[in-house]
Formats: sequence, structure tokens, C-alpha cells
Amino acid sequence: MSNEKPCRACTDFRTWAKRQKEVYDSEKGVQKKQDQTPVTSDKSNRDDCPLDKDELGSKSWAFLHTMAAYYPDKPTKNQKADMNNFFHIFSKFYPCNICAEDLQEQLKHSPPETGSQEKLSQWLCRIHNEVNKKLGKAEFDCTLVNQRWRDGWLDGSCD
Ligand SMILES: Cc1cc2nc3c(=O)[nH]c(=O)nc-3n(C[C@H](O)[C@H](O)[C@H](O)COP(=O)(O)OP(=O)(O)OC[C@H]3O[C@@H](n4cnc5c(N)ncnc54)[C@H](O)[C@@H]3O)c2cc1C
Repeated sequence: MSNEKPCRACTDFRTWAKRQKEVYDSEKGVQKKQDQTPVTSDKSNRDDCPLDKDELGSKSWAFLHTMAAYYPDKPTKNQKADMNNFFHIFSKFYPCNICAEDLQEQLKHSPPETGSQEKLSQWLCRIHNEVNKKLGKAEFDCTLVNQRWRDGWLDGSCD
């Protein structure tokens, strides 16, 4: 088994904690008994711990959708080019490597649509839905994307 440091941002917290313990035990030469249940720590109550894959994911989506929500309706040529570059660079440095590779593949087939706020927000909604589908999650109704990320729900529940 590799002693590579487990990547917390690439996996859910329980898997990361289990792997962390395996690496620790193997470094300390601890023999794992056949019937030994892997010890996984429960997440502490602190709110200032490093992010796991799912926390990083939901916070990153919040940022990306909010950025798209406030993108100009009539962007300049430079803004369009910058936004396109942003997503390509983001996909190279996103700290969860399987997520980053997945996004890079998506960008090849579906490059950022930077023509307007509406186009960018709808494009990002479709990109996010592709990930939702891959993970077996429900698809989000993209007609609601501006209510979710910019205007608040029509019933006033966010006001
Ligand atoms: C670029 C990227 C790629 C990722 N790739 C992977 C991967 O390959 N494998 C993996 O396991 N995890 C991946 N993740 C993480 C994954 O998408 C989720 O963020 C994570 O599973 C936590 O999910 P969640 O239930 O908190 O909701 P999230 O999917 O994080 O969504 C957060 C909120 O966004 C809203 N929302 C949901 N869908 C849409 C949509 N289509 N458009 C607009 N708003 C929406 C909902 O209100 C939801 O509560 C990726 C994350 C990012 C940012």
C-alpha cells in the first residue's frame, strides 16, 4: 500500500480519515488484525477544518454559480476571453484531481458560453448537472438558476 499522504479534498471525510489511519499505522508498523474494524474518527465540531471533496464541491459551486449570476449581460471581448480562460485555469488547479479531470473533459466538449450572463449561467447549470448525473443526484431545473443564485425565490422566502 502506498504511503502517499491522503488527499482530503479528493474524497469524502470518512474515506479520508480511514486512509489517514492506514498510512499512520503503516508508518508506525502497526499490524492490522484480520477482524479489526477500521477506526474512523467522527468529524469534530470545529468549523475551521480543511475541506473534504463534498465541502469543497458545494462551496466551489456556490462561488462559480454566483460569479456567473453577476457576469455582465453584454460582456466585452476581453471579459469573454478572461472568463473562458478562468474556467480552463480553474480546471487545472481544482484541488480534487478526479473532479478536475472530469471538468477538463467536459470543457473539451462543451466550452464556456461567455456571450452573456444568461448564456454563462445556463452553461454552468448544464455542466453541474452532468456531475449530478454522474453522481446519481437529481438534476437541477436550469430555468430556476437565477432565482437560486441571484434573485432569491419568487415566493420571497429569501428576502
Ligand atoms: C467543478 C466540480 C467538479 C466536480 N466533480 C466531481 C466528481 O467528478 N466526483 C465527485 O464525487 N464530486 C465532484 N464534485 C463535487 C460534487 O459536485 C458536489 O459538490 C458534492 O458531491 C457535494 O454535493 P452537494 O449535495 O452538497 O450539492 P452540490 O452538487 O455541491 O450543489 C450545491 C447546490 O447547488 C445547487 N445546484 C445543484 N445542481 C445545480 C445546477 N445544475 N445548477 C445550479 N445550481 C445547482 C443546489 O441548490 C445545491 O444544493 C465536483 C465539484 C465541482 C465544483
